[in-house]
Amino acid sequence: MFELTNEQQMIQKLARDFAQEELAPFARERDKHHEFPEQNFKQMGELGLLGIPFPEQYGGAGGDTLSFILAVEEIGKACGGTGLSYAAAVSLGATPFYHFGTEAQKEQYLVPLAQGKTLGAFGLTEPNAGSDAGGTQTTAILDGDEWVINGEKQWITNASFSNQVVVTAVTGKDDRGKKQISAIIVPVGTPGMTIRTPYEKLGVRASNTCEIVLENVRVPRDSVLGDEKKGFHQFLNTLDGGRISIAALSVGIAQSAFEKALAYSKERTQFGQPLSKLQAIQFKLADMAMEIELARTYVWKAATLKDANKPFKKEAAIAKLFCF
Ligand SMILES: Cc1cc2nc3c(=O)[nH]c(=O)nc-3n(C[C@H](O)[C@H](O)[C@H](O)COP(=O)(O)OP(=O)(O)OC[C@H]3O[C@@H](n4cnc5c(N)ncnc54)[C@H](O)[C@@H]3O)c2cc1C
Repeated sequence: MFELTNEQQMIQKLARDFAQEELAPFARERDKHHEFPEQNFKQMGELGLLGIPFPEQYGGAGGDTLSFILAVEEIGKACGGTGLSYAAAVSLGATPFYHFGTEAQKEQYLVPLAQGKTLGAFGLTEPNAGSDAGGTQTTAILDGDEWVINGEKQWITNASFSNQVVVTAVTGKDDRGKKQISAIIVPVGTPGMTIRTPYEKLGVRASNTCEIVLENVRVPRDSVLGDEKKGFHQFLNTLDGGRISIAALSVGIAQSAFEKALAYSKERTQFGQPLSKLQAIQFKLADMAMEIELARTYVWKAATLKDANKPFKKEAAIAKLFCF
């Protein structure tokens, strides 16, 4: 049984009202002009949307994953690009600090992220490391009390508008002689770090997607996020949670497409009747509605398992594969 609590329904309504009033009317233009909704992110921060799944102690709203993905669906339904950047800001930009950061890192980075005062990005993908995240080639070498980072990241969401990017880098070898990958916090603007936006995407163009070049970038030794030796497991865990939010984004985009198709089918008349009276069109609309219901139900299942601290890896992967 999936019945939303009063609090979850309130968050859903808050996100829906905001998204329909502030995002939907401008979504088409923003997509056309690749315009990142910086002002809207400030509003979302003020509404508490960027801190939904984090405790109040860290500037969050004390909500759960299900509440967060309800907001992702509403925002994605109004504007796919904003929805993508919102999903990434919370699940990739902020969540790693919550799960793996030290208290000092949580204070310094998570609190402003959850309050929506800053944005963060997560840089894992590289020209030769995508599905095969273990193929990371970026390196970080200790030089005295500093890490010296060299490498290239691609497809990194929100980096141009972020305060810091958490990048994955090879920092040595583990006990079995395999690459040891760590996650390192790099403040945007650190000398040697170049961020560009070279991509001509087919959609979600309001979302900021970046290439990052790191040339002898120096950060203090304590910039490692969490356990230096567990970077690989940390980001696999982060990606599991991220999959649920991208699945929710896809449900939002699908719901919007369905509603627009339904409205058009009632408006457009052929052979003396609206398209919606033709059975072949009714079948298509019914299939769309059915698939969206199934998709949403499964996303809620994955989120509910995560909230119950039960294994959700498989469900998150199925949700993303089915919905995306
Ligand atoms: C809009 C957008 C935003 C993104 N934001 C971020 C971000 O914020 N941070 C970040 O780190 N990354 C980000 N990414 C990168 C994303 O996570 C990668 O695209 C993903 O890891 C897949 O890597 P790839 O695109 O290089 O595809 P590849 O790994 O090159 O895969 C290409 C194809 O081969 C298939 N394939 C790969 N391996 C196998 C296998 N073993 N068996 C069968 N088939 C296989 C894949 O399914 C795919 O169809 C973003 C991507 C996009 C498009």
